[in-house]
Amino acid sequence: MSNALQFNTQDGGKSVALTFDDGPDPRWTPQVLALLAQHHAKATFCQIGPHAQRYPYLTKSVVAAGHRLCDHSVHHNEQQSSMPLDYNIHEIADAQQEIANAAGPGAKLWYYRAPGGDFKPVIRNIAAQHGLRPIGWSDDSNDWKRPGVANILDNINRNLHPGSIVLMHDGGGDRSQTVAALAKLLDQLDAQGYTYTFPAR
Ligand SMILES: [Zn+2]
Repeated sequence: MSNALQFNTQDGGKSVALTFDDGPDPRWTPQVLALLAQHHAKATFCQIGPHAQRYPYLTKSVVAAGHRLCDHSVHHNEQQSSMPLDYNIHEIADAQQEIANAAGPGAKLWYYRAPGGDFKPVIRNIAAQHGLRPIGWSDDSNDWKRPGVANILDNINRNLHPGSIVLMHDGGGDRSQTVAALAKLLDQLDAQGYTYTFPAR
C-alpha cells in the first residue's frame, strides 16, 4: 500500500470521484444516498468511527449501495499529527475497527482521509500500514461553510476536471445546502458526460 496522497480517480478519463466526509448522519446521509442512487452514481464516504458505531445501519447502507468506505479517524482532530505516535495509531486503527464493525463481515475500508487534511508523513505511514490509501481532494466544495447552494456549485466548478476528487460533507452540521447542491451537481455531471468512480488506490 502506497503512503502517497492520492489525488486521482481510479478510472481516469472523464470520471469524477465524489467524496463525503464526517458522517454517517441519520438526517443527511440517507438524502445523499438517495440522490446518488437516482443518478446511478458511486461515491466514497469518509466516516468518523464513533458515528459509524452509533449508526451502523447507515454504514451498511453505504456498502450495500456499492459505495466505498474511508476512515476519517475517531475524534476528527485537525492537528492529529502534533500528537504522540500512539495517539495517531489509535485515531486511525480504532476508527477503522469501528467502521468495519458497523459495516459488517466482508466490508472493506479502502482509504484514510485525515481530518483537516493533516497529511504529514507520520499520518500517511500509519494509514498505509493499516491498508488504507491516504486520499486528498482536488476540488473543495467548502460546503461545510454553508456559503449557499450557488457558491458550493461555483466552488466545485472552479476546479472541476476529468479525474477530480470532489470534497463534500454528509455530516458535521446542517447539510441541507450540500444536499441541494448535490442534486444540481449530479444533473450537471450527467449532462457533461462524466462518469462516477472512486479515488485510485
Ligand atoms: Zn472531516
